[in-house]
Amino acid sequence: MMKVLSRMSLGELEEFCLSIGQSKFRARQIYNWIYLKSVKSIDDMTDLSKRFREELKELAVVSDIKVVKKQVSSDGTVKFLLEYSDAQRVETVLMRFDNRANLTACVSSQVGCAMGCAFCATGKRGFIRNLTPYEITEQVLAIQMETGLKVTNIVFMGQGEPLLNLYNVLAAMKIFNESFQIGVRRMTVSTCGIVPQINKLAQLNMQSTLAISLHAPKSEIRQKIMPVEKKYNLELLKKSLIDYTKMTGRRVTIEYVLIGGVNDSAVCAKDLAYYLSDLNCNINLIVYNPVEGDEFKRPKKDDIYKFKYLLEVAGKKVTIRLERGLDIDAACGQLSGKV
Ligand code: SAH
Ligand code: SF4
Repeated sequence: MMKVLSRMSLGELEEFCLSIGQSKFRARQIYNWIYLKSVKSIDDMTDLSKRFREELKELAVVSDIKVVKKQVSSDGTVKFLLEYSDAQRVETVLMRFDNRANLTACVSSQVGCAMGCAFCATGKRGFIRNLTPYEITEQVLAIQMETGLKVTNIVFMGQGEPLLNLYNVLAAMKIFNESFQIGVRRMTVSTCGIVPQINKLAQLNMQSTLAISLHAPKSEIRQKIMPVEKKYNLELLKKSLIDYTKMTGRRVTIEYVLIGGVNDSAVCAKDLAYYLSDLNCNINLIVYNPVEGDEFKRPKKDDIYKFKYLLEVAGKKVTIRLERGLDIDAACGQLSGKV
């Protein structure tokens, strides 16, 4: 059986190097090549002797995730369709923001999603399976190997509900931090609002950013587009978010997808400002991205700016999330594993 280097901790890699008669120090070199220098193959690990590289190639591969397809958007966003050894596929999206040197990877935490939000392509697919910690981190490794670039930020906004795969997501974040050397403050976990798991993150004093997919200020509206509202309603969610901000000392991000005629009215904006009035948060407005087979519309431009304005006059900090990769179906909510 070939060893997969990216599925070993530094300690395991050291043991492996010792077991084939190499010094422990080789493990650190390999580790840096994989995580920090983003090489494509063992051949590129040029500070290892040619002979050792040949030997290593007989025994091991860097990663066994397959890049099925790579699409580049006109705005520079790159979408990767990746395949695991059981033929299940997920997308990972790489976003560059022009104004910063940051490279953000949007990773998947599950194949599919059980939460069934009406506006989301992943939700339409249903739940298939959880990803293991290494399956999550290999997505970023694949991007780094393909592009030769170093990812600086992680958002859990690909396929899946990260809080329903919490322990694997936390383990992946630990690997991102320790092996990829990505700071915990540069990671964001996005959830549709799984209250008991938010409480757990508060107890763990998570220092990464928690983003909440709120999408409606009133239960009647939220129920129609997010089935999770029936289980963990806005009132329970609010209480848990207040506790979270108090326990962690961190503000949360509120995501709000504006859908034409559904949740984008002035009344909704005022209700939202009221709902969030005592919560320490930033608001991120997202314009609904069309999903095949659903009946929703994009909001009118005027309504987007009016909505933002109404929140701002109520004293909230609001940004409109830049649209990324719309032409290649890489934008929020458009990920469904299709080729
Ligand atoms: N399951 C998690 C994370 C993945 S979804 C969650 O729901 O938070 C990432 C973000 O994309 C969420 O805020 C989600 O509501 C949003 N989204 C889903 N479908 C969308 C669509 N069609 N247009 C715009 N945003 C969408
Ligand atoms: Fe799942 Fe998030 Fe999509 Fe809802 S929006 S179906 S929680 S991935």
